[in-house]
Formats: sequence, structure tokens, C-alpha cells
Amino acid sequence: MRTFRCTLCGLCCRASPISILPHEDYILRALARRLGVKYKSRPGYRVFDRRTGRDIALSYVMELIDGKCPFLREDNLCMIQNIYKPLICRSFPYVPKQVKYIISNELKFVFARVEYGVSGACPVIKEDKEVIMKLMSMTPYWHRMYFPQEYIAAMEMEEKRSLLLRLLSKLWASGIVDIDSSHSGARNTINLYELLRTYFPNLPYIMGLGETINRIRTR
Ligand code: SF4
Ligand code: SF4
Repeated sequence: MRTFRCTLCGLCCRASPISILPHEDYILRALARRLGVKYKSRPGYRVFDRRTGRDIALSYVMELIDGKCPFLREDNLCMIQNIYKPLICRSFPYVPKQVKYIISNELKFVFARVEYGVSGACPVIKEDKEVIMKLMSMTPYWHRMYFPQEYIAAMEMEEKRSLLLRLLSKLWASGIVDIDSSHSGARNTINLYELLRTYFPNLPYIMGLGETINRIRTR
């Protein structure tokens, strides 16, 4: 059975700003510093913390620079492929189409509902249209069959997102933060991963990032 095969055309690294998770913004910023690459990102979804008067960023958007991802090499290869490639780059073209953050004031709990879909920006999807249609008519789990690697990356993305949100909920339940979902746009924003690391120093290891962080430090 035919499965998705990336042709390394590099189009997805030029298509649009790239949505990343908080720990990925931290890693990419550090990598950019070490590799001498210009890096620009902005917080995506934010919640306001009444306790500190600042926003907490639950996601980030990495900006394109001169029409491309700053980590894209001239030969269309990713310069951080073997160090840390963002999960959305690993799952592409199977990507989150809609991410809805749900905040329960009653339960002091934050979680996300994510809908995945296929990006039409990838030329392979257009070429494989018939194969995909056939698989879709055979099984509702066609995406697992057609995107075996990309599906695993997508699952990992959701595991990491959910872990970060569970730990944030824990801080809320302990009174360390006090989330107000109806207000954001504060002057200061803290990255959720960096906030959590203050209270969970072994977070990089819990998230399976220990080796990556060490690799960045030793470069
Ligand atoms: S657009 Fe598709 S084929 Fe091109 S690099 Fe991205 S995933 Fe691979
Ligand atoms: S990080 Fe790598 S794979 Fe992701 S958009 Fe940038 S160059 Fe492409």
C-alpha cells in the first residue's frame, strides 16, 4: 500500500508561519542563538494570570523571515533536522486544523480539543488524491495508514500539549496561578514551558527533552 513520501520540496517551510508548542519556542530560540540564525516568534493562544498580572502563552507562532523558515537551508533541507525538528514539521501535511483551548473555572482545568486535517499546501497530497480517496472509502482510519510517521508525530504533539496543560491546571489548583480566560493582552507574557520549569525542574526529562536540551547546550 502506498504511504505518504515527502519529496523534500521545502514548500511547507515557506507556506505560512509555523505553529509550535511552548517548549519548542524555547528550544528553537536557543538553537537560533547557537547557530547564528535570525529567529522571530510571537505568542499564539494566551491566558491571563490574575496572580502575576501577566499572560501565559500556551502556543507560539514562528514567523517566516524573507519568505521562509529561518532554519531552511539553501538546498531545501532543514538545518535542525537531527537536533530538534518541531512536531508540526514532523507531522506535516497531517496538521492541526483547529485548536480550541477549553478553560473550566469551576474545575480549575485547562485542556485542548484539536481537529486534524490534511494541508493542501503539500504537492504530494494533490498527486496522491486518488490513493487517498480510495483509502478514505475503505476506512475512517485512513490517515493512520497513509501517514504512519506523520500520525505518530501528531500524537506526540498532542501528548506534549496535553501534559503542559495538565501541569498548568495543577498550578491553578494549587493556587500558584489564577487563570482568567476572559482577559488577555497583558504587557508581559511568559512562556508556559518556562513557567512550569520553575515549579517542575525535571520537566525536560518528564517531556523526554533531556537529550535535546543537552545537545543544544554542548553545541
Ligand atoms: S510540502 Fe510536502 S513534499 Fe514538500 S517538503 Fe513539505 S511535506 Fe515534503
Ligand atoms: S524547522 Fe525545519 S522543517 Fe520546520 S519549517 Fe523550518 S526548515 Fe522546515
